Amino acid sequence: MRGLRQRLEGRQIVRAVLHRADLRWPFPEGLAQRLTGARVESFRRRAKYILMRLDGGDSVLLHLGMSGRMVLGPAHPNDPILHEHMVLETDDGWRVGFVDPRRFGSVDLVATAAEDAHRLLAGLGPEPLEQGFSAAHLAASLVGRRTPLKSALLDQKIVAGLGNIYVCEALFRARLSPSRDAHTVAGARAARLVPAIKATLTEAIAAGGSSLRDYVQPSGELGYFQHAWKVYGRVGQACERCPGPPKCEGIGRIVQSGRSSFFCARTQK
Ligand SMILES: [Zn+2]
Repeated sequence: MRGLRQRLEGRQIVRAVLHRADLRWPFPEGLAQRLTGARVESFRRRAKYILMRLDGGDSVLLHLGMSGRMVLGPAHPNDPILHEHMVLETDDGWRVGFVDPRRFGSVDLVATAAEDAHRLLAGLGPEPLEQGFSAAHLAASLVGRRTPLKSALLDQKIVAGLGNIYVCEALFRARLSPSRDAHTVAGARAARLVPAIKATLTEAIAAGGSSLRDYVQPSGELGYFQHAWKVYGRVGQACERCPGPPKCEGIGRIVQSGRSSFFCARTQK
């Protein structure tokens, strides 16, 4: 969102092209017409959604899905990009393409004044970096939940915007097992977990920000960035907290609800 903001805020969209009728869901009626000529006023993020607010009172709701990314570059209309489904061209000669090979992404329109009533945003839990997300709030949300802690934290109704990587990293930081029953996280455990979530996200946003220093990498890509994770994707590697063999075997991996969880079995209980 920050990369898009740097490129698009204040710009007018002079041309909008859709290369298909849908992604995960059909594009809204008249999308290209409503984008054409609109000026981009501001951006907001809610959970994993990007909201691009236009001067006519519409917000464009964007979700990158599994594989979506934004590709920015100077307009060159004779150079099509594979899996590019939506293209916006700006009054200063740039183009923004929404590229999504697996097409789990989505684009919708919602009145800016009623963003939070959109079916995808209504019912979302608190933003993890806002004050309302506290240890007391989290503990209250987990009362009676007999699911694994990992699954509870991925539930967007409990806390919004956490994905698999961030949950793995935050649980490592908080020394809590992804398999622990969610309802057992209260008191001191919740008081460890909430700051761990906030710190994990804050560091990741800072790393994303530094990779966006010039807001467009040479490839023109925005979206996911490389980051040095402590446990995610590091099965079998040494854990930074542990002495190594024979006392511990490094980072382990289990599968929960079809997603990999990476953790240190020695220190995460
Ligand atoms: Zn360890």
